This record gives sequence, structure tokens and C-alpha cells, in this order.
Amino acid sequence: MKIINSIMHMQALAIAPEREGRRIAFVPTMGFLHEGHASLLREGRKRGDVLVLSIFVNPIQFGQNEDLDRYPRNMEGDCKIAEACGVDIVFVPTAAEMYPQGFQTGVTVRDIALPLCGASRPGHFDGVATVVAKLFNIVRPDVAFFGCKDYQQLAVIRRMAADLNMPVEIVGMPIVREADGLAMSSRNAYLSPSERQSALCLVRAIKRARELFAGGERSIAVLTRETRAVIEQEPSATIDYVEMRDGVLLQDQEVADSDTLLALAVKIGQTRLIDNTVLGEEL
Ligand code: AMP
Repeated sequence: MKIINSIMHMQALAIAPEREGRRIAFVPTMGFLHEGHASLLREGRKRGDVLVLSIFVNPIQFGQNEDLDRYPRNMEGDCKIAEACGVDIVFVPTAAEMYPQGFQTGVTVRDIALPLCGASRPGHFDGVATVVAKLFNIVRPDVAFFGCKDYQQLAVIRRMAADLNMPVEIVGMPIVREADGLAMSSRNAYLSPSERQSALCLVRAIKRARELFAGGERSIAVLTRETRAVIEQEPSATIDYVEMRDGVLLQDQEVADSDTLLALAVKIGQTRLIDNTVLGEEL
């Protein structure tokens, strides 16, 4: 397994497989890898000849008062997981090389990036789209893997790749959860043991919505109210948003159907967690 820091070196390495018709599979991450990331890597291993993992905590997708400085890092642990998943190349650029002095170009995806996390984290998806576009130009993947855990991010990247004719297949992968249902996230490392328990309110809320939907409830107003009520019972939880929208364009809906997305962002103490479910899909 090669560990590459330089953009030029990574680009040079990507050219040979391209010429030889070997497929590059790519999994972009911010590191502190867990089973969620590993599931993407394993699928990448199956679907590509060369598997590239990137680890880059992208400063431009963090807001001013967000957790950029304390975002968890563990290069040694990440390399062990990467190796076990059959990664060929780990690309770990520095922020200074990704955003040198004078950098001034950005990618903006419009409507689909506006609600949900786009509303509570202004500029976040510009940062995500810009870095993913750059990474695609550096790694030149044939296929790239993203988790449905970040549902809106996946939608934004699909839109960007289609709109800008990027020659890459975007694959969405299911949410990997802990045994008790909590969606795996690098940010779970911030939670104290009692907050870890409190965080289960997200799972309870999702289950409640799914139960009501399975029982025939279709009113988004009722479903949203009941879902919020579950989270409001948890004293250390503060709702950022609890919303139901159509799962394709992320537009407002009044009547739920099996493609309806329930998306949650909830602060447990200081830690902001997100989770989601599509009401008609299996958990
Ligand atoms: P991150 O390192 O948090 O930026 O995540 C890198 C990639 O892993 C993104 O495509 C995420 O959606 C995906 N990912 C993170 N957590 C999970 C999870 N629990 N299940 C599936 N994919 C995940």
C-alpha cells in the first residue's frame, strides 16, 4: 500500500491504469475510519482494479464555529483498516497543497444543496463539491463510493457529476450502524458515555416514523411532529432540523410516499449528529 502526499505524484499514478484500461475505484474520506468507511472500501475493492482512499479534513467545508480544529485523526489506525480492506493507494494531501495561495475557484450546486444541512451549514456543500471535484481531477476514478449516511451530500455529488459531465460512476452505499442502531460516524468519538446513550434518540425517532408510515400514516405534518416528539423527550438533545422531503430532489412534500426521506440533525451536548431513512426502504 502506497501513501502519497503530493498531488502531482497522485495524478501521475492515476495515468498508468487509465492507459492500460484498469479501473480506478475511489473512496474519499476525512479519516478516523470506521466500519462505515470500510464498507465503501470493500465494495471499491470488488469493483475496481486499483483502489484509492483519500484522507483529507477539508477546511473549506467547515463553518467558523465548527469542529475543524478538533476533528479526530488517527493515521496509524486508518492505515491498518485501509490495508485490511485491500487499498492500493492512500492519498493524504495537505491543506496548503489543495488550497495554495491565490486559490479562488469553487463549485456550487444550487437547489438540492439549499435545504437541510445546506441551510444550517451555509457554504458547506460548496466546500464539499469543490473538494470532490478537485479529488476527481487528481485521482481520476472510474467509480467513486459515498455513504447514504450523508444523504444530501450524495445527492449533491450525483448532481455535480451529471451536470459537469464528470466521467465517473457515483455509487451510494447503505448506512452502517452500531449494534444498537446508532449510525457510525467519526464524530461519535466526541460523545461521553452518557451522551452515547442519549444519541440513541435519533434511532428511536427514525423507528417511530417508520412504524407510523408502515401503519398507514401519510401526513408529513403528523409524521414530523411525532418524530420531533421522540427527540424532545431526550434532555441533552437539541434539534437542528427534523424534516421529511422527497428523496430525489429534496423538495417539500405534504403527503409521504415510500421514497420520502426523513433527515435529522440533532446536537447531543456539543456534538452534531445526522441520520436519515427513506421511509419505504428496509433499514
Ligand atoms: P467522512 O469521513 O465522514 O467524510 O465520510 C466519508 C464517506 O464515508 C462519506 O461518503 C460518508 O457518507 C461515508 N460514511 C460515513 N459514515 C458512514 C456510515 N455509517 N455508513 C456508510 N457510509 C458512511
